[in-house]
Amino acid sequence: MTDTIFAKIVRREIPADIVYEDDDVLAFRDLNPQAPVHVLFIPKRAIASLGDATTADAELLGKLLLAAASYAREQGFEKKGYRTVLNTNEDGGQTVYHLHVHLLAGRRMTWPPG
Ligand code: 5GP
Repeated sequence: MTDTIFAKIVRREIPADIVYEDDDVLAFRDLNPQAPVHVLFIPKRAIASLGDATTADAELLGKLLLAAASYAREQGFEKKGYRTVLNTNEDGGQTVYHLHVHLLAGRRMTWPPG
């Protein structure tokens, strides 16, 4: 079981700028935004990393991506585009071990990422 800063945000123990919530998913603005729009989509039920997800989590992972896509559409980024990122473990650049999807939008992204 992981308990991270994101679990504290889910429990409302620390504040966050929440932009979307449903029964399974919470989304809030990143504290250190890397684009004009930088929102993190997390499952309320913590999974540490993508590598810890199992087939039992398939629906939850789908919900995360669909929530990100829906938010991007609502915010008007569907046509121009946006980036979704899921960092996994050390080499992936993961710093918070509560699985999350980054949604970055509002500027032209570069490739390859750093
Ligand atoms: P990772 O590096 O694990 O993929 O992404 C973690 C993200 O969480 C980082 O972009 C970082 O800025 C963000 N972050 C870390 N602590 C907090 C926090 O307390 N509140 C919010 N809103 N974002 C945080």
